[in-house]
Amino acid sequence: MDSKKSINQKFSKTDLLHKIEKHKKKMDYIQKFLHCADVIILGVFSYVVIPISLQHIASNLATPIKNQKQLEQILQIEKKKLGIKDKYIDVQFGPEKNYETADTSYSRKIGNNKYKIVIYQTQRNEAILRHEVYHIADGHLDSIEEVNSDFGKTLDYFLLHEPQASLYGSLGLKL
Ligand SMILES: [Zn+2]
Repeated sequence: MDSKKSINQKFSKTDLLHKIEKHKKKMDYIQKFLHCADVIILGVFSYVVIPISLQHIASNLATPIKNQKQLEQILQIEKKKLGIKDKYIDVQFGPEKNYETADTSYSRKIGNNKYKIVIYQTQRNEAILRHEVYHIADGHLDSIEEVNSDFGKTLDYFLLHEPQASLYGSLGLKL
């Protein structure tokens, strides 16, 4: 009885309703925030994962590149398409001599306006070559040099460069 009395003293009915209303508003805000966070996470996930998945599918369906001559011919076509005929690009199948690499294709800067593309043995196809040429054409290898931290480089790579190059490699879309 005593405790009930003290509650009644502390909270009038209006106070209680006011507190419940306040609590509800807080919960609504938290729910909205969580919903926004879900949408953002889903958006970023889709933005990164969908292009990379498309690149994998396109690579499996793409025309294989049989030899060095064909590799160079396709490179010239892609350079023209992307408007980078003035850039010097060396291209070869991997592994690259005296250069430690992962088991994948890659492009790297080797000098001023000079680049190298290495196509990994199991990825000898047009979609992968297009992907690597796009990294060069869109200036990814130049801009990443200006990013100071490794974390920043990783973010740029996964959130900007890789989705963009994958969209071009798979669907031919320029972002
Ligand atoms: Zn890439």
